[in-house]
Amino acid sequence: MTCLCTIILKKKIQKITLWDFLKLIYLQIMMNVPVQGSFVALDIEQLKMAIEECKRLILELPEHSERQKDTVVKLIHLRLKLQELKDPEEDEPNLRVLLEHRFSKEKSKSVKQTCDKCSTIIWGLIQTWYTCTGCYYRCHSKCLNLINKPCVRSKVSHKSEYELSICPEIGLDRQDYRCAECRTPVSLRGVPSEARQCDYTGQYYCSTCHWNDTAVIPARVIHNWEFEPRKVCRSSMRYLALMLPRPVLKLREINPLLFNFVEELVEIRKLRQDILLMKPYFITCKEAMEARLLLQLHDRQHFVENNDMYSLQDLIDISSGRLSCSLTEIHTTFAKHIKLDCDRCQAKGFMCELCKEGDILFPFDSHTSVCHDCSAVFHRDCFYDNSTTCPKCARMTELTLFQFSGLRKMVARY
Ligand SMILES: [Zn+2]
Ligand SMILES: [Zn+2]
Ligand SMILES: [Zn+2]
Ligand SMILES: [Zn+2]
Ligand SMILES: [Zn+2]
Ligand SMILES: [Zn+2]
Repeated sequence: MTCLCTIILKKKIQKITLWDFLKLIYLQIMMNVPVQGSFVALDIEQLKMAIEECKRLILELPEHSERQKDTVVKLIHLRLKLQELKDPEEDEPNLRVLLEHRFSKEKSKSVKQTCDKCSTIIWGLIQTWYTCTGCYYRCHSKCLNLINKPCVRSKVSHKSEYELSICPEIGLDRQDYRCAECRTPVSLRGVPSEARQCDYTGQYYCSTCHWNDTAVIPARVIHNWEFEPRKVCRSSMRYLALMLPRPVLKLREINPLLFNFVEELVEIRKLRQDILLMKPYFITCKEAMEARLLLQLHDRQHFVENNDMYSLQDLIDISSGRLSCSLTEIHTTFAKHIKLDCDRCQAKGFMCELCKEGDILFPFDSHTSVCHDCSAVFHRDCFYDNSTTCPKCARMTELTLFQFSGLRKMVARY
């Protein structure tokens, strides 16, 4: 949306009166009121211009008139605002470390940010502001020294596990009717300040520490397969955002029953098992390494490490169907390399030793069974249960027995 003030300034205030312009600009500056639905960026020059126009208007207006008095008050307010918006220090350090946050000075002139400390707008054009490179906490330079919340990044690094009880409330009385974070007095009646519950921690917070942000709650996903975003406090929001891609959920242990109820999970588990079976091909194939095939999994590298750890992002994408699509595609690309495109990988296929018929088999083919002891691959119908003896294993046993008896004969001879 085009900034109304810019239009006005560009047209050199032709269509509307100076008085209307001043009223408009004043309203915006003093009350942070959006004009035509958007906040308008005012730089220090525009503010100075408004002050000059104000001064000129005071001289032009009839002495002691109501309008003149009103303009004087406006002039005072505009000057105070200018003072307030000017940076206290011009050359502030680029990096500041506070309570384990690593604050880096921002160059962006965006004005859509809100300070996480004082909850007011950051005027990027004229104010210095910092963002923590670890947890993305944003803050005015002037608010930096007032911060009392440690960086949640360190919590993610040191203790990366989720609260897995659904909204574990302890009650406002146990919190002494105070915000769980900053200890400001709060109550459910809103006196002296509104108590807002965080669905992740179950605790209550004041409106400075809880902005009614929403997030998917891991406990609700794990126990109810429920993905509706719930209201959370600022620090939970930051923590959950940082934890989102981390594979810390061992579904099989936390809620094994999920696999009985969620079909998509079974499908993903099979795809992941196949990808693990394909991994040995790729790490021994120069071509696959050069093509960086495994990197197609992007930020889901845990899929080539194990098949039972999930990140919350994985579960969200499983529920939306996104993961099934992308993983099936990757599975197809991987299988194509091994079975069709690459001679080296193809040569590592198996002939079913039980029927000695049919195509070359690979362990990730859907109609195969793999011997748990020697990893030989057979048709599933040929190796249909555990009572079938694996010919490769049988040969190995025979060989061992032969070597052992040979050894005994040698020992007896001497
Ligand atoms: Zn601030
Ligand atoms: Zn931080
Ligand atoms: Zn608070
Ligand atoms: Zn290959
Ligand atoms: Zn067979
Ligand atoms: Zn075997």
